[in-house]
Amino acid sequence: MNIAVDHSWYAATAAASPPRPALAGDTRADVAIIGGGATGLSAALHLAQRGVSVVLVEAARIGHGASGRNGGQIIPGLRQGAADLLENFGETRGAALFHLALSARDLVVDLVARHGIDCDLALTGHLTTAVRPRDLDGFAREAAAAARLGYHRMRVLDAGAARAAVASPSHGALLDGGGGHFHTLNYTLGLARAAAAAGALLHESSPVTRLERRAGGVVLYTPTGTITAAQAIVAGDALLGPFNRRINSRIMPVGNYIVTTDVLPDGGAGLIPGNHAVSDSRFVVNYFRRTPDGRLMFGGGERYTPRPPADMAAFVRPFLERSFPMLAGVGLSHAWGGLVSVTRSRLPDIGRDGPLLWAHGYSGQGAVLSTLGGALLAEAAQGDETRFSQFAAAAPPGFPGGQMLKGPLHVLGMLWYALRDRTG
Ligand SMILES: Cc1cc2nc3c(=O)[nH]c(=O)nc-3n(C[C@H](O)[C@H](O)[C@H](O)COP(=O)(O)OP(=O)(O)OC[C@H]3O[C@@H](n4cnc5c(N)ncnc54)[C@H](O)[C@@H]3O)c2cc1C
Repeated sequence: MNIAVDHSWYAATAAASPPRPALAGDTRADVAIIGGGATGLSAALHLAQRGVSVVLVEAARIGHGASGRNGGQIIPGLRQGAADLLENFGETRGAALFHLALSARDLVVDLVARHGIDCDLALTGHLTTAVRPRDLDGFAREAAAAARLGYHRMRVLDAGAARAAVASPSHGALLDGGGGHFHTLNYTLGLARAAAAAGALLHESSPVTRLERRAGGVVLYTPTGTITAAQAIVAGDALLGPFNRRINSRIMPVGNYIVTTDVLPDGGAGLIPGNHAVSDSRFVVNYFRRTPDGRLMFGGGERYTPRPPADMAAFVRPFLERSFPMLAGVGLSHAWGGLVSVTRSRLPDIGRDGPLLWAHGYSGQGAVLSTLGGALLAEAAQGDETRFSQFAAAAPPGFPGGQMLKGPLHVLGMLWYALRDRTG
């Protein structure tokens, strides 16, 4: 098997999912949705459940994007933790954003149970390991801020306890008992089944190539059909391409790559005895977890260009072996990658411009936030902006340099931080 090219463990172990037909001819809907990831599908499900007519178009297959290929790590909250949110937004708004973001995890757990989605959901906790001794100060500050806001699931582990939890060098860890991991592609396919059962029409192989605003709504064009709708939800995240200047200006795609090892003799129990999801405190994060079939899934390394490395397995291996020296030379079964969309503030960009609504830019922490993002868009499309507006009011600034220069300037910034990872 050639694992140098995109070959994901999720695709290899996913539930059967027969292709859905491409959009054919001209159709009408209350809401048209671009993108069959968790954001778009959650919006479709929540709208269809309330009797709204919905047509969702996906350029490739359902789950083709980040929702079908991420690390499957359930990390409660936002990339800005409680302490940063309080500092940046003050007590009231900071607390509201913190609690709203935390609800994403509970929403996913609820949907999995309600719709019987078989996705290996393991609520075993998430650990952030400290690569520098000073990280522990930040962990203590975060656990204290979260506790002050009524969230008591965080605990700081000293170096001994962290090494007992993860057989990888660290100076300690922050445990969030609300975290865990899941089979993200099976979750996304399950959301699609639930949305379709609720009445949403889902089409694959239907890339939207043009969007026209008209009096009273929008028209979406795909190569094989059109959708005329009162509102459109844009949920293409990093894969959307240059579509709309406002929507594109706040997000930047970053390439990120993952491998799974061959089945380990002890199923990985010796590496992560508590079966936690784990990420480290580096700017260019290494993240890893066990799979139910006894492998280690490991993500590491970033590329600031959408072009993947020629050999994804070889690209990730040095990061894996640095985190787990005892796995030097281990066989790798699968390797794949995807594009993470990041924003300048690392908060998602959720907003509206007339009949267009969007949510994206979860900045590497969208495995469960995307489901919340879709739910908030569904509420806003029905005229209830109470929760939606909390995020819309905290939308990140655009990247400096406009469409031409935002890439190079951002890459320079990211490289600077990546260099600091190496120099400590
Ligand atoms: C490698 C990787 C690892 C990650 N690991 C984690 C993790 O462990 N934990 C975590 O919390 N987050 C993680 N993330 C982030 C998380 O996966 C994303 O934030 C989240 O899945 C975004 O969901 P989405 O539905 O908004 O976008 P996507 O899942 O990317 O879906 C967008 C869909 O829109 C479609 N599309 C785009 N343009 C068009 C168009 N013009 N017409 C029709 N369809 C279109 C795409 O084909 C795609 O299927 C990771 C991301 C990557 C890439």
